[in-house]
Parts: sequence; structure tokens; C-alpha cells
Amino acid sequence: ARSFEGRSVALFGLGGSGVATAKALAAGGAAVTAWDDNPESVCKAEREGLQTANLRGADWSTFSSLVLSPGVPLTHPKPHWSVELARAADVEIIGDVELFSRERTARAPGAPFIAVTGTNGKSTTTALTGHILRAAGRDTQVGGNIGRAVMTLDPPEPTRNYVVECSSYQIDLAPSINPSAGILLNITPDHLDRHGTMQHYASIKERLVAGSETAIVGVDDIWSAQIADRLERTGREVVRISKRLALTGGLYADGTELMQARDGKIRKVASLEGICSLRGQHNAQNALAALAACLKVGLKHDEIQAGLSTFPGLAHRMEQVARKGNVLFVNDSKATNADAAAPALSSFPRIYWIAGGLAKEGGIEPLRGFFPRIAKAYLIGEAAPAFSATLGDDVAYEISGTLDAAVAHAAADAAKDGAVEAVVLLSPACASFDQYRNFEVRGDSFRQAVAALAGVDMIGG
Ligand code: ADP
Repeated sequence: ARSFEGRSVALFGLGGSGVATAKALAAGGAAVTAWDDNPESVCKAEREGLQTANLRGADWSTFSSLVLSPGVPLTHPKPHWSVELARAADVEIIGDVELFSRERTARAPGAPFIAVTGTNGKSTTTALTGHILRAAGRDTQVGGNIGRAVMTLDPPEPTRNYVVECSSYQIDLAPSINPSAGILLNITPDHLDRHGTMQHYASIKERLVAGSETAIVGVDDIWSAQIADRLERTGREVVRISKRLALTGGLYADGTELMQARDGKIRKVASLEGICSLRGQHNAQNALAALAACLKVGLKHDEIQAGLSTFPGLAHRMEQVARKGNVLFVNDSKATNADAAAPALSSFPRIYWIAGGLAKEGGIEPLRGFFPRIAKAYLIGEAAPAFSATLGDDVAYEISGTLDAAVAHAAADAAKDGAVEAVVLLSPACASFDQYRNFEVRGDSFRQAVAALAGVDMIGG
């Protein structure tokens, strides 16, 4: 079906998802006028057959929508010029997740649609949920902020299941998002550079679960807990999850056991015992969310357990990379802020810690509680001086500068450690952009540096 037939759409932002979205719209019959502030992106889009024109000089009265790439400033620090032009012309501003939601509503409103957001754990939960559904034999499409742009997924059909990871940026551009199950994992300070206040950031995340048939909410932080209460008061079906509290209603973790409390009864519904890829309390939160969503779309307990047990885990998230004697090398390159680094630091007792890059506000101060576990820190990138100041006299450190030097020095020091297990951990608590294109490239470099050491046994990859 050519469901965008006859519509004239302005599209700004020609990164990977922008180009994919423009193509899908054009294939659906829309007249798309695409643009980007980066001339190279515009040239590339033209080579791919897209119609481009500088939207600054366009007649905005002809457009029905402005389709914006996530990450183009909508409000903070100030609206992008395309946003101002669209607002002045009363043209709606939406993103690809909104387009997808409308397609599903129009074509297959019953198609199970699980949307995942939260400050941390989105990708793990999205991949895990998709894995469980696939393992249970469901036709399953996984995309959004993780992997494929939503408009490149197979089109909605009643029996097709969707698991879509949504960043705050994408929710902000999806006013009518209406998943069957919306997951809000947690809310902690991050991305405030783009979203302004914590209040505003939380209100964007709330919109995803407020639009859901069933809202699945992690209640271990105060912001999310308040959202769960508020949604329930408005009559929405809410499933609370907790990684550390025995709830009287909802799903919670008791160690590695996943429990369900309902109508005064408590029962065990699944177990994470022995599942390497789901170690740690933070992964219990992710697994509980996946469990709740899979129950909502009709999977049975044994199907869910089977999927949990075979989850391979994600690259760059506490990924075990190699062993050498008593030394384990762990790639947690995805930990781009202090909160995301905390789970890895809490998972190992004796750590040779590689940290640094482009620091986020607050630096590593929130990680002070883990300092006693750190045998030595190896600091890289722009954040090194600031991090060394926080470590002060409490933790031994060196300024290694580069990841290669850090790996070599940490491996040599860890080899002399008498502990049963010493871990060389890349969990940078920083963005990567000062030295790398993205966190994946940084993680791959870590793996390569480890592989170059003498006598290591590589795991996976
Ligand atoms: P996201 O997609 O939200 O960035 P990921 O699943 O990619 O999250 O995990 C990113 C980092 O956050 C990892 O380093 C991991 O250790 C940590 N993490 C994963 N799940 C959680 C969670 N539920 N709570 C807190 N931290 C988490």
C-alpha cells in the first residue's frame, strides 16, 4: 500500500536514519524535499536518488509535515531553523517513530508493539525482548534507536511483532506513539545538555508510557516511581518492576529469581541463575521489563525462560573479551556516563579500570563508592586531568593518554595481581568523540589492543 500518497513532506537531517526514512516515504508515494546543514550529506542523499532543496527558501505552506532526525534541536539550547520555519507555517514536526506508529495504527493496530525507553538499559532490553519473541517463534522486527531505522522494518501486519528502542529525542517527535506495551526502565540525569531540566527530560520519557496500553515502569528511581503513580491515577494499566524491592504488586527480582506479586500471592516466574549475559542487578531490571512485555503480548512462562536462557548479550556492554590466566578483559565501552559505568564497577571486586574520553557533567564523582575496588585507574582522553583530580590520593592512577597504552599497562599490572580474578575493565564513563567516531569503534579498538597482547585467549568476536 502506498500510504503516504499525495503528501508533501519536508525532511531535515540526512544521517543514516534520515536517508532511510526519506526513501521509505518516497516509496510510499510522498513528495519528499530533503535537506541537511552538512553539504556532504546532501550530496550523498542526491546520489541515492532523493529530491533535495534548501528548505530555508522553500514554500512551507505546501508541506504537511516536517520530518526531523532525532538529535536536531527542537527546543534546547534553541530550536533549529527548520523547526522555527515549520512552527511559523503551522507545519507539524514529527520523527520516524511517529511515522511508524501511524502506519501501524492505520494498517495493523493489533500488531504487538513494544517500545522501550529509559536513561540506561534500552538497547539491552530491546535486544533481549526481541530475542525472547523470536525464540518463541514470533515474526519479530527490532529497530529504532538500536539497529535498523523503524521505517526500514517490514511493514505492519497483524501477527508481526515490533520491538522499538526510543531515545528521548524520538519520543519528543512522536506525539501519537501508542505501543501495546511501553517500557520505562529508569530516569537518571543524562542528556540534560539537550533537554534542559530534569523535569522536562522526565516529562518526555513519561509521554511514551502515557501513550501505552500497558505501562511497564521501573520504580527504583524517584522520577519513574512518580510517573507510575501518576499513570495509575489516570486509570492506565501499570506494571511496576523493581530490581531491589519486594513489591506487593508487580514484578521484582529476588537475587537472580524473577518474582510476580499479584492479588496477595507471590510466585516465581523466571530465573536468571547461571545466565552470564544477564549478570548484575541492572540486568535484572532489563530482564524484568522484557518479561513484563512478553507476558503482555501473550508469551508463556516457559517460552520466556527459554529466551532468557539463550540471550547472547550485546557487544560493548560488559562484554567478556578475553582471558589470560587470572585476568579477565571486559569491554563496557557503551558506558558513556557515570551511571552507566556503575553496574560494571559493581560487578567485579578487583578492577584495573580504563576510563576517560569526553567527560559528562558530574564526572566520576558519583562512582566514589566503588573506588575501593579499583586497584589502579588508567586515564585516557580529554577527561584525564579532571578524573585524576577526583581520584586524588584515594586511588592509584596513571594518565595513559591512549587506549593502547592503557591496555598494555593495565594488563601488565593485573598479571602481577594475586587475586582470584583481576579484571581489566574499559568502562569509560565518558563519550568517545574526542578520540573515536563512536563507542563501538572505541570498543573494537579495546578488543584489538587486547588481542595484540601475548598469550591471551579471546572470547567470541
Ligand atoms: P542504552 O541503550 O540505554 O544506552 P544499554 O543497554 O546499551 O543502554 O547499556 C548501556 C550501559 O548501561 C551499559 O554499560 C550497562 O552496563 C549499563 N546498564 C544496562 N542496563 C542498565 C540498567 N537497567 N540500569 C543502569 N545501567 C544499565
